[in-house]
Amino acid sequence: MVKQSITIQKKKSFTFFEKWIIFGIILAIIFFLISYFSQKDFFSKKEPILETPKTEMRTLPPDVKKELQTKPASISATLRVPILMYHYVEYVQDKKDTIRQSLDIQPYTFEQQIKTLLTAGYTFITAKDLGDVLDGKTQLPSKPVILTFDDGHWDLATDVLPILKKYNIHVTAYIVPGFIGTNSDSLTSKEMQEIVDSGLIDIGAHTVHHISLKGQPLARVQYEVDESKTMLEQEYHLKVYSFAYPYGSFDQQAINVVKQAGFTTAASTIPGIVQNQQNRFFLYRLRPGYRTGQVLLKYLSQNIFGAYN
Ligand SMILES: [Zn+2]
Repeated sequence: MVKQSITIQKKKSFTFFEKWIIFGIILAIIFFLISYFSQKDFFSKKEPILETPKTEMRTLPPDVKKELQTKPASISATLRVPILMYHYVEYVQDKKDTIRQSLDIQPYTFEQQIKTLLTAGYTFITAKDLGDVLDGKTQLPSKPVILTFDDGHWDLATDVLPILKKYNIHVTAYIVPGFIGTNSDSLTSKEMQEIVDSGLIDIGAHTVHHISLKGQPLARVQYEVDESKTMLEQEYHLKVYSFAYPYGSFDQQAINVVKQAGFTTAASTIPGIVQNQQNRFFLYRLRPGYRTGQVLLKYLSQNIFGAYN
């Protein structure tokens, strides 16, 4: 009797129909988990999201604000162009180098960010292209984004350039010509030449000695700005159109000198997404940090209008 009842129970618990129901439930749970984690971008949250160091200028200096108030806002189009700011893109060897680590994006993450932007339909333009758009020489693509690299570290040649070549991406690099080939942290002349020859990098200037321009004597600002352009143009036989202020530090005098030197745009470290005639000499930028996937896209689509707009 006992044996018989066990056999009957076994037969009842695994019918063909029930197996399909269980399979269906498991499948539904898997789909739910996948969609939950992809929306939350769970995997990219493993890494910290880097924020702007406190030393960088994040708001407009008073004299620039005052100057803007004297000029009514132009009716020219306001462009939504996220400009992402990078410093180091490498696998940092010295774990005690906290400054380097705080400014670093690992090459793997950088590549993920490029994949995210490409998949979402972004077009990579340069700061020079943006200057041409503001001058009415060319039109903006539908979803523009600009990647910028400050200082001219060696990883631009060893880690960034191979990824740019792989995806045929154009970017802007703000180089400190006084550093090239002079210290172990910067590009060598050979590496710099390789970057120029790639044709993928809009070479911008970032002063001769990486100094803060705010409040400096006019002659010093003129030397640092003018000479950084001339040095790069003469040494590498190119035209330099783009400028970035070291530490994001500028004032109205610095803006005037940059304009007079013939640059068509200058990048600040003020967070924002909107670029126009008013801020073309202090373009707003964003730090992507370790954001990838939906988190990065959401970051770029939010309303960060910058200090002035
Ligand atoms: Zn810098």
